[in-house]
Amino acid sequence: MPLRVVNPATEEQIAEVERAGVDETDAAVAAARAACPAWRAVTPSDRGRLLRRLATLVEEHGEELARIESRNVGKPIAGARAEVGMVADVFHFYAGAVDKKHGETIPVAGGVDMTFREPLGVVGLIVPWNFPLNIASWKLGPALACGNTVVLKPAELTPLSALRLAELARDAGIPDGVINVLVGKGSVVGQRLVEHPDVAKIGFTGSTEVGRSVMKGAAQTIKRVTLELGGKSANVVFADADLERAAAAAPYAVFDNAGQDCCARSRILVEKSAYDRFAQLLIDATRNVKVGDPDDERTEMGPLISRQHRETVASFVDTSPLFQGEAPNSTGFWFPCTLVEATNDDRVAREEVFGPVAALIPFADEADAIRIANDTPYGLSGSIWTENGARALRVARALETGVLSINSNSSVRVATPFGGFKQSGFGRELGMHALDGYSEVKNIFYATEH
Ligand code: NAD
Repeated sequence: MPLRVVNPATEEQIAEVERAGVDETDAAVAAARAACPAWRAVTPSDRGRLLRRLATLVEEHGEELARIESRNVGKPIAGARAEVGMVADVFHFYAGAVDKKHGETIPVAGGVDMTFREPLGVVGLIVPWNFPLNIASWKLGPALACGNTVVLKPAELTPLSALRLAELARDAGIPDGVINVLVGKGSVVGQRLVEHPDVAKIGFTGSTEVGRSVMKGAAQTIKRVTLELGGKSANVVFADADLERAAAAAPYAVFDNAGQDCCARSRILVEKSAYDRFAQLLIDATRNVKVGDPDDERTEMGPLISRQHRETVASFVDTSPLFQGEAPNSTGFWFPCTLVEATNDDRVAREEVFGPVAALIPFADEADAIRIANDTPYGLSGSIWTENGARALRVARALETGVLSINSNSSVRVATPFGGFKQSGFGRELGMHALDGYSEVKNIFYATEH
Protein backbone atom coordinates (compact mmCIF):
# COMPACT_ATOMS: atom_id res chain seq x y z
CA MET A 1 0.00 0.00 0.00
CA PRO A 2 1.42 3.44 -0.89
CA LEU A 3 2.34 5.79 1.91
CA ARG A 4 0.09 8.80 2.59
CA VAL A 5 2.17 11.85 3.45
CA VAL A 6 0.28 14.40 5.55
CA ASN A 7 0.71 18.09 6.43
CA PRO A 8 0.53 18.11 10.26
CA ALA A 9 -0.78 21.70 10.30
CA THR A 10 -3.86 20.83 8.20
CA GLU A 11 -4.07 17.02 8.38
CA GLU A 12 -4.39 17.07 4.56
CA GLN A 13 -2.65 14.53 2.36
CA ILE A 14 0.12 16.24 0.40
CA ALA A 15 1.63 13.25 -1.42
CA GLU A 16 1.49 9.53 -1.93
CA VAL A 17 4.75 7.64 -2.10
CA GLU A 18 5.54 4.02 -2.96
CA ARG A 19 6.84 2.07 0.01
CA ALA A 20 9.97 -0.01 -0.45
CA GLY A 21 10.35 -3.48 1.02
CA VAL A 22 13.21 -5.90 1.51
CA ASP A 23 13.65 -6.59 -2.24
CA GLU A 24 13.93 -2.89 -3.06
CA THR A 25 16.37 -2.46 -0.18
CA ASP A 26 18.56 -5.26 -1.52
CA ALA A 27 18.42 -3.70 -4.99
CA ALA A 28 19.43 -0.29 -3.62
CA VAL A 29 22.35 -1.80 -1.70
CA ALA A 30 23.42 -3.63 -4.87
CA ALA A 31 23.25 -0.37 -6.87
CA ALA A 32 25.28 1.44 -4.20
CA ARG A 33 27.82 -1.37 -4.18
CA ALA A 34 28.14 -1.32 -7.97
CA ALA A 35 28.72 2.46 -7.86
CA CYS A 36 31.49 2.21 -5.24
CA PRO A 37 34.61 1.62 -7.39
CA ALA A 38 33.87 4.47 -9.79
CA TRP A 39 32.92 6.89 -7.00
CA ARG A 40 36.05 6.28 -4.97
CA ALA A 41 38.10 6.70 -8.15
CA VAL A 42 36.74 10.21 -8.80
CA THR A 43 39.62 12.58 -8.12
CA PRO A 44 39.32 14.50 -4.85
CA SER A 45 38.98 17.83 -6.62
CA ASP A 46 36.20 16.49 -8.85
CA ARG A 47 34.41 14.92 -5.90
CA GLY A 48 34.62 18.27 -4.14
CA ARG A 49 33.34 19.98 -7.28
CA LEU A 50 30.29 17.67 -7.44
CA LEU A 51 29.46 18.29 -3.77
CA ARG A 52 29.89 22.03 -4.34
CA ARG A 53 27.45 21.82 -7.25
CA LEU A 54 24.94 20.03 -5.05
CA ALA A 55 25.36 22.77 -2.41
CA THR A 56 24.70 25.40 -5.06
CA LEU A 57 21.61 23.58 -6.34
CA VAL A 58 20.29 23.37 -2.76
CA GLU A 59 20.75 27.15 -2.53
CA GLU A 60 19.05 27.74 -5.87
CA HIS A 61 16.13 25.51 -4.83
CA GLY A 62 16.17 26.79 -1.25
CA GLU A 63 12.65 28.20 -1.25
CA GLU A 64 11.21 25.05 -2.83
CA LEU A 65 12.98 22.78 -0.33
CA ALA A 66 11.96 24.98 2.61
CA ARG A 67 8.31 24.82 1.49
CA ILE A 68 8.49 21.03 1.18
CA GLU A 69 9.99 20.72 4.65
CA SER A 70 7.56 23.21 6.17
CA ARG A 71 4.50 21.43 4.76
CA ASN A 72 5.71 17.95 5.59
CA VAL A 73 6.94 18.62 9.16
CA GLY A 74 4.74 21.62 10.07
CA LYS A 75 7.81 23.81 10.56
CA PRO A 76 7.43 27.60 10.45
CA ILE A 77 8.65 28.71 7.04
CA ALA A 78 11.29 31.10 8.44
CA GLY A 79 12.89 28.25 10.41
CA ALA A 80 12.65 25.87 7.45
CA ARG A 81 14.56 28.37 5.29
CA ALA A 82 17.33 28.57 7.88
CA GLU A 83 17.55 24.76 7.98
CA VAL A 84 17.85 24.50 4.22
CA GLY A 85 20.54 27.20 4.36
CA MET A 86 22.44 24.95 6.74
CA VAL A 87 22.05 21.99 4.37
CA ALA A 88 23.76 23.98 1.60
CA ASP A 89 26.50 25.05 4.04
CA VAL A 90 27.05 21.42 5.06
CA PHE A 91 27.65 20.38 1.43
CA HIS A 92 29.92 23.41 0.89
CA PHE A 93 31.91 22.45 3.98
CA TYR A 94 32.41 18.81 2.93
CA ALA A 95 33.14 19.84 -0.66
CA GLY A 96 36.10 21.71 0.82
CA ALA A 97 36.98 18.90 3.22
CA VAL A 98 37.48 16.17 0.60
CA ASP A 99 41.23 16.82 0.27
CA LYS A 100 41.92 18.07 3.79
CA LYS A 101 41.76 14.89 5.84
CA HIS A 102 45.28 13.59 5.34
CA GLY A 103 47.08 10.36 6.07
CA GLU A 104 50.36 10.31 8.01
CA THR A 105 53.90 9.08 7.61
CA ILE A 106 55.25 7.53 10.79
CA PRO A 107 58.97 7.09 11.57
CA VAL A 108 59.79 3.34 11.73
CA ALA A 109 62.88 1.21 11.18
CA GLY A 110 63.63 -0.31 7.76
CA GLY A 111 61.20 1.58 5.59
CA VAL A 112 58.34 4.01 5.33
CA ASP A 113 55.08 3.67 7.19
CA MET A 114 52.08 5.52 5.91
CA THR A 115 48.38 5.69 6.64
CA PHE A 116 45.47 6.18 4.28
CA ARG A 117 41.86 7.11 4.95
CA GLU A 118 39.87 4.53 3.00
CA PRO A 119 36.14 4.70 2.31
CA LEU A 120 34.04 2.07 4.08
CA GLY A 121 31.98 1.11 1.03
CA VAL A 122 28.17 1.22 1.18
CA VAL A 123 26.77 3.07 4.18
CA GLY A 124 23.16 3.01 5.35
CA LEU A 125 21.83 6.32 6.63
CA ILE A 126 18.68 6.20 8.77
CA VAL A 127 17.20 9.53 9.81
CA PRO A 128 14.23 10.82 11.89
CA TRP A 129 11.32 13.11 11.03
CA ASN A 130 12.16 16.18 13.10
CA PHE A 131 14.93 17.68 10.91
CA PRO A 132 14.66 15.43 7.85
CA LEU A 133 16.90 17.20 5.34
CA ASN A 134 19.31 18.72 7.83
CA ILE A 135 20.17 15.46 9.52
CA ALA A 136 20.38 13.65 6.17
CA SER A 137 22.93 16.23 4.99
CA TRP A 138 25.03 15.84 8.17
CA LYS A 139 25.54 12.21 7.14
CA LEU A 140 25.57 12.50 3.36
CA GLY A 141 28.22 15.24 3.33
CA PRO A 142 31.01 13.36 5.13
CA ALA A 143 29.97 9.94 3.73
CA LEU A 144 30.25 11.14 0.12
CA ALA A 145 33.35 13.24 0.78
CA CYS A 146 35.14 10.12 2.04
CA GLY A 147 34.23 8.18 -1.13
CA ASN A 148 31.39 6.03 0.18
CA THR A 149 28.12 5.38 -1.60
CA VAL A 150 24.90 5.54 0.40
CA VAL A 151 21.40 4.22 0.90
CA LEU A 152 19.39 6.86 2.74
CA LYS A 153 16.19 5.96 4.57
CA PRO A 154 14.14 8.98 5.62
CA ALA A 155 11.44 8.62 8.29
CA GLU A 156 8.14 7.39 6.90
CA LEU A 157 6.34 10.54 8.02
CA THR A 158 8.72 12.90 6.22
CA PRO A 159 10.21 11.43 3.02
CA LEU A 160 9.62 14.32 0.60
CA SER A 161 12.71 16.50 1.03
CA ALA A 162 15.11 13.53 0.80
CA LEU A 163 13.45 12.40 -2.45
CA ARG A 164 13.86 15.90 -3.91
CA LEU A 165 17.46 16.09 -2.74
CA ALA A 166 18.24 12.86 -4.59
CA GLU A 167 16.94 14.48 -7.80
CA LEU A 168 19.10 17.54 -7.20
CA ALA A 169 22.12 15.29 -6.63
CA ARG A 170 21.50 13.71 -10.04
CA ASP A 171 21.19 17.18 -11.59
CA ALA A 172 24.49 18.09 -9.93
CA GLY A 173 26.15 15.23 -11.83
CA ILE A 174 26.63 12.83 -8.92
CA PRO A 175 26.57 9.45 -10.70
CA ASP A 176 23.61 7.06 -10.45
CA GLY A 177 23.91 4.59 -7.60
CA VAL A 178 25.96 6.90 -5.36
CA ILE A 179 22.90 8.22 -3.49
CA ASN A 180 19.90 5.90 -3.20
CA VAL A 181 16.83 7.03 -1.26
CA LEU A 182 14.41 4.39 0.00
CA VAL A 183 11.09 5.24 1.59
CA GLY A 184 9.80 2.52 3.87
CA LYS A 185 9.23 1.24 7.34
CA GLY A 186 12.02 1.27 9.88
CA SER A 187 11.24 -2.29 10.86
CA VAL A 188 11.55 -3.40 7.21
CA VAL A 189 13.92 -1.16 5.22
CA GLY A 190 15.85 0.12 8.25
CA GLN A 191 16.27 -3.30 9.71
CA ARG A 192 17.34 -4.82 6.39
CA LEU A 193 20.03 -2.13 6.06
CA VAL A 194 21.23 -2.94 9.56
CA GLU A 195 21.42 -6.66 8.78
CA HIS A 196 22.64 -6.49 5.17
CA PRO A 197 26.12 -8.02 4.84
CA ASP A 198 27.12 -5.54 2.10
CA VAL A 199 26.39 -2.46 4.23
CA ALA A 200 29.57 -1.47 6.04
CA LYS A 201 28.16 1.13 8.40
CA ILE A 202 24.93 2.57 9.71
CA GLY A 203 24.74 6.28 10.44
CA PHE A 204 21.64 6.48 12.62
CA THR A 205 19.75 9.36 14.18
CA GLY A 206 16.62 8.60 16.15
CA SER A 207 15.38 7.42 19.50
CA THR A 208 17.58 5.69 22.05
CA GLU A 209 15.23 2.70 21.96
CA VAL A 210 15.64 2.10 18.20
CA GLY A 211 19.34 3.00 18.46
CA ARG A 212 19.75 0.13 20.88
CA SER A 213 18.23 -2.32 18.38
CA VAL A 214 20.40 -0.89 15.57
CA MET A 215 23.50 -1.47 17.69
CA LYS A 216 22.40 -5.02 18.50
CA GLY A 217 21.64 -5.83 14.84
CA ALA A 218 24.93 -4.34 13.68
CA ALA A 219 26.84 -6.69 15.97
CA GLN A 220 25.99 -9.61 13.68
CA THR A 221 28.26 -8.30 10.90
CA ILE A 222 30.48 -6.06 13.10
CA LYS A 223 29.07 -3.07 11.27
CA ARG A 224 30.32 0.35 12.24
CA VAL A 225 27.63 2.53 13.80
CA THR A 226 27.25 6.17 14.63
CA LEU A 227 24.32 6.73 16.95
CA GLU A 228 22.76 10.16 17.48
CA LEU A 229 19.98 9.46 19.96
CA GLY A 230 17.65 11.15 22.40
CA GLY A 231 18.37 13.87 24.94
CA LYS A 232 17.06 15.49 28.10
CA SER A 233 19.30 18.49 28.24
CA ALA A 234 19.63 20.98 31.08
CA ASN A 235 19.55 24.74 30.78
CA VAL A 236 21.38 25.76 33.97
CA VAL A 237 20.66 29.33 35.11
CA PHE A 238 22.72 30.70 38.02
CA ALA A 239 21.51 33.65 40.07
CA ASP A 240 24.47 35.73 38.83
CA ALA A 241 23.39 35.33 35.17
CA ASP A 242 21.86 38.05 33.04
CA LEU A 243 18.41 36.74 33.95
CA GLU A 244 16.54 38.83 31.37
CA ARG A 245 18.67 37.44 28.54
CA ALA A 246 18.53 33.89 29.84
CA ALA A 247 14.74 34.02 30.24
CA ALA A 248 14.18 35.64 26.86
CA ALA A 249 16.19 32.89 25.15
CA ALA A 250 14.97 29.87 27.16
CA PRO A 251 11.60 29.35 25.41
CA TYR A 252 13.28 29.02 22.01
CA ALA A 253 15.70 26.42 23.41
CA VAL A 254 12.80 24.10 24.08
CA PHE A 255 9.83 25.24 21.98
CA ASP A 256 11.71 25.57 18.67
CA ASN A 257 10.50 22.91 16.25
CA ALA A 258 7.61 22.47 18.73
CA GLY A 259 10.05 20.88 21.17
CA GLN A 260 10.78 18.06 18.72
CA ASP A 261 14.49 18.61 19.01
CA CYS A 262 17.03 16.18 20.43
CA CYS A 263 18.93 19.20 21.83
CA ALA A 264 15.86 20.72 23.52
CA ARG A 265 16.87 22.22 26.86
CA SER A 266 13.70 20.82 28.40
CA ARG A 267 14.97 20.82 32.00
CA ILE A 268 15.40 24.43 33.08
CA LEU A 269 17.48 24.38 36.27
CA VAL A 270 17.34 27.65 38.21
CA GLU A 271 19.26 28.67 41.33
CA LYS A 272 16.78 28.99 44.21
CA SER A 273 17.63 32.59 45.09
CA ALA A 274 16.64 33.69 41.54
CA TYR A 275 13.86 31.15 40.95
CA ASP A 276 10.75 33.32 41.46
CA ARG A 277 12.07 36.21 39.42
CA PHE A 278 13.30 33.94 36.61
CA ALA A 279 10.00 32.00 36.54
CA GLN A 280 8.07 35.24 36.02
CA LEU A 281 10.44 36.40 33.27
CA LEU A 282 10.15 32.98 31.62
CA ILE A 283 6.36 33.05 31.68
CA ASP A 284 6.40 36.51 30.08
CA ALA A 285 8.80 35.34 27.35
CA THR A 286 6.83 32.14 26.70
CA ARG A 287 3.62 34.13 26.31
CA ASN A 288 5.29 35.92 23.39
CA VAL A 289 6.09 32.78 21.36
CA LYS A 290 4.05 33.04 18.17
CA VAL A 291 2.25 29.73 17.59
CA GLY A 292 0.23 29.18 14.42
CA ASP A 293 0.19 28.82 10.65
CA PRO A 294 3.63 27.62 9.47
CA ASP A 295 3.18 29.62 6.24
CA ASP A 296 3.06 32.89 8.19
CA GLU A 297 6.49 34.54 8.13
CA ARG A 298 6.17 35.58 11.79
CA THR A 299 5.24 32.16 13.16
CA GLU A 300 7.77 30.72 15.62
CA MET A 301 6.13 27.40 16.50
CA GLY A 302 3.98 25.05 14.44
CA PRO A 303 2.13 21.83 15.26
CA LEU A 304 3.45 18.47 16.40
CA ILE A 305 4.17 15.82 13.79
CA SER A 306 1.16 13.54 14.32
CA ARG A 307 -1.98 12.89 16.34
CA GLN A 308 -0.35 9.94 18.08
CA HIS A 309 2.65 12.04 19.04
CA ARG A 310 0.37 14.74 20.45
CA GLU A 311 -1.22 12.14 22.71
CA THR A 312 2.20 11.12 23.99
CA VAL A 313 3.19 14.74 24.65
CA ALA A 314 -0.10 15.47 26.44
CA SER A 315 0.47 12.50 28.75
CA PHE A 316 3.40 14.36 30.32
CA VAL A 317 1.22 17.21 31.58
CA ASP A 318 -0.57 15.46 34.44
CA THR A 319 -0.58 18.32 36.95
CA SER A 320 -1.73 21.90 36.65
CA PRO A 321 0.98 23.69 34.62
CA LEU A 322 2.76 26.82 35.82
CA PHE A 323 1.85 28.35 32.46
CA GLN A 324 0.25 27.17 29.24
CA GLY A 325 0.12 29.34 26.12
CA GLU A 326 -2.30 29.46 23.22
CA ALA A 327 -2.48 27.17 20.19
CA PRO A 328 -4.96 26.96 17.30
CA ASN A 329 -8.10 25.03 18.16
CA SER A 330 -8.60 23.72 14.63
CA THR A 331 -7.45 20.82 12.48
CA GLY A 332 -3.75 20.07 12.88
CA PHE A 333 -1.78 18.47 15.68
CA TRP A 334 -1.42 21.55 17.88
CA PHE A 335 -0.09 21.69 21.39
CA PRO A 336 0.58 24.88 23.38
CA CYS A 337 3.88 25.94 24.98
CA THR A 338 3.74 24.53 28.49
CA LEU A 339 5.83 25.22 31.61
CA VAL A 340 5.61 22.86 34.56
CA GLU A 341 7.32 22.90 37.96
CA ALA A 342 9.01 19.58 38.72
CA THR A 343 11.67 17.71 40.58
CA ASN A 344 14.29 15.81 38.64
CA ASP A 345 12.60 12.54 39.66
CA ASP A 346 9.33 13.35 37.88
CA ARG A 347 8.61 11.60 34.58
CA VAL A 348 8.57 14.96 32.75
CA ALA A 349 12.18 15.48 33.85
CA ARG A 350 13.39 11.94 33.21
CA GLU A 351 11.94 11.06 29.82
CA GLU A 352 12.29 12.82 26.51
CA VAL A 353 8.93 14.58 25.91
CA PHE A 354 9.81 15.67 22.37
CA GLY A 355 7.15 18.35 22.55
CA PRO A 356 6.73 21.92 23.85
CA VAL A 357 6.84 21.09 27.55
CA ALA A 358 9.59 22.49 29.78
CA ALA A 359 10.21 21.47 33.40
CA LEU A 360 11.44 24.12 35.85
CA ILE A 361 13.63 22.64 38.57
CA PRO A 362 15.23 24.63 41.41
CA PHE A 363 18.79 23.96 42.64
CA ALA A 364 20.67 25.05 45.77
CA ASP A 365 24.23 25.72 44.60
CA GLU A 366 26.81 24.86 41.95
CA ALA A 367 27.37 21.29 43.15
CA ASP A 368 23.62 20.68 43.27
CA ALA A 369 23.24 22.05 39.73
CA ILE A 370 25.91 19.68 38.40
CA ARG A 371 24.40 16.73 40.26
CA ILE A 372 20.89 17.34 38.91
CA ALA A 373 22.05 18.12 35.36
CA ASN A 374 24.02 14.85 35.24
CA ASP A 375 21.27 12.79 36.87
CA THR A 376 19.89 11.49 33.56
CA PRO A 377 20.75 8.59 31.25
CA TYR A 378 21.18 11.11 28.42
CA GLY A 379 24.07 13.45 27.63
CA LEU A 380 23.53 15.34 24.40
CA SER A 381 23.39 19.07 24.91
CA GLY A 382 22.94 21.84 27.47
CA SER A 383 23.49 25.48 28.43
CA ILE A 384 25.06 27.36 31.32
CA TRP A 385 24.10 30.94 32.16
CA THR A 386 26.37 32.88 34.55
CA GLU A 387 28.45 36.05 34.47
CA ASN A 388 31.23 34.23 36.35
CA GLY A 389 33.60 32.95 33.66
CA ALA A 390 35.51 30.54 35.89
CA ARG A 391 32.27 28.97 37.09
CA ALA A 392 31.01 28.69 33.51
CA LEU A 393 34.06 26.65 32.49
CA ARG A 394 34.11 24.65 35.72
CA VAL A 395 30.49 23.59 35.26
CA ALA A 396 30.94 22.99 31.52
CA ARG A 397 33.79 20.56 32.24
CA ALA A 398 31.74 18.79 34.90
CA LEU A 399 28.64 18.20 32.77
CA GLU A 400 28.45 14.78 31.10
CA THR A 401 27.23 16.01 27.76
CA GLY A 402 28.65 16.31 24.25
CA VAL A 403 27.59 19.78 23.12
CA LEU A 404 27.35 22.80 25.42
CA SER A 405 26.83 26.52 25.16
CA ILE A 406 27.63 29.26 27.69
CA ASN A 407 25.33 32.29 27.85
CA SER A 408 23.72 31.02 24.68
CA ASN A 409 21.53 28.09 23.66
CA SER A 410 23.13 27.62 20.29
CA SER A 411 25.55 24.74 19.99
CA VAL A 412 25.05 23.27 16.52
CA ARG A 413 27.39 24.57 13.84
CA VAL A 414 28.54 23.18 10.49
CA ALA A 415 32.23 23.31 11.39
CA THR A 416 32.06 22.02 14.99
CA PRO A 417 31.58 18.46 16.28
CA PHE A 418 28.12 17.35 17.38
CA GLY A 419 27.16 14.23 19.31
CA GLY A 420 26.31 12.70 22.63
CA PHE A 421 27.71 11.22 25.81
CA LYS A 422 26.05 8.32 27.66
CA GLN A 423 22.79 7.03 26.15
CA SER A 424 22.59 9.95 23.73
CA GLY A 425 24.88 7.90 21.49
CA PHE A 426 28.41 8.00 20.18
CA GLY A 427 30.40 9.17 17.20
CA ARG A 428 30.47 12.77 16.07
CA GLU A 429 28.72 14.51 13.19
CA LEU A 430 29.57 17.81 11.52
CA GLY A 431 32.97 19.46 11.32
CA MET A 432 36.10 17.52 10.42
CA HIS A 433 35.31 15.00 13.19
CA ALA A 434 32.48 13.48 11.12
CA LEU A 435 35.01 12.25 8.54
CA ASP A 436 36.40 9.82 11.14
CA GLY A 437 33.06 8.02 11.16
CA TYR A 438 32.99 7.50 7.40
CA SER A 439 36.54 6.31 6.77
CA GLU A 440 38.79 3.52 7.94
CA VAL A 441 42.49 4.03 8.71
CA LYS A 442 44.74 1.77 6.65
CA ASN A 443 48.37 1.38 7.68
CA ILE A 444 51.01 0.39 5.08
CA PHE A 445 54.66 -0.41 5.67
CA TYR A 446 56.96 -0.13 2.64
CA ALA A 447 60.40 -1.73 3.13
CA THR A 448 63.18 0.43 1.70
CA GLU A 449 66.17 -1.74 2.65
CA HIS A 450 67.58 -4.49 0.42
P1 NAD B 1 12.80 6.67 15.69
O1 NAD B 1 13.93 6.06 16.45
O2 NAD B 1 11.44 6.15 15.90
O3 NAD B 1 13.09 6.54 14.12
C1 NAD B 1 14.29 7.01 13.54
C2 NAD B 1 14.51 6.30 12.22
O4 NAD B 1 14.75 4.91 12.49
C3 NAD B 1 13.31 6.34 11.27
O5 NAD B 1 13.77 6.49 9.95
C4 NAD B 1 12.67 4.99 11.49
O6 NAD B 1 11.92 4.54 10.37
C5 NAD B 1 13.92 4.11 11.69
N1 NAD B 1 13.65 2.83 12.38
C6 NAD B 1 12.61 2.52 13.19
N2 NAD B 1 12.72 1.23 13.60
C7 NAD B 1 13.85 0.74 13.07
C8 NAD B 1 14.53 -0.51 13.14
N3 NAD B 1 14.04 -1.51 13.85
N4 NAD B 1 15.68 -0.67 12.47
C9 NAD B 1 16.22 0.36 11.77
N5 NAD B 1 15.62 1.56 11.64
C10 NAD B 1 14.45 1.76 12.29
O7 NAD B 1 12.91 8.22 15.97
P2 NAD B 1 11.93 9.38 15.48
O8 NAD B 1 10.67 9.26 16.26
O9 NAD B 1 11.87 9.42 13.99
O10 NAD B 1 12.76 10.67 15.95
C11 NAD B 1 12.73 11.14 17.23
C12 NAD B 1 13.93 10.68 18.02
O11 NAD B 1 15.14 11.00 17.34
C13 NAD B 1 14.05 11.36 19.36
O12 NAD B 1 14.38 10.43 20.36
C14 NAD B 1 15.19 12.36 19.17
O13 NAD B 1 15.84 12.74 20.34
C15 NAD B 1 16.07 11.63 18.24
N6 NAD B 1 16.94 12.57 17.54
C16 NAD B 1 18.28 12.61 17.86
C17 NAD B 1 19.11 13.51 17.24
C18 NAD B 1 20.59 13.58 17.56
O14 NAD B 1 21.32 14.09 16.75
N7 NAD B 1 21.03 13.06 18.69
C19 NAD B 1 18.61 14.39 16.30
C20 NAD B 1 17.25 14.34 15.99
C21 NAD B 1 16.43 13.41 16.62
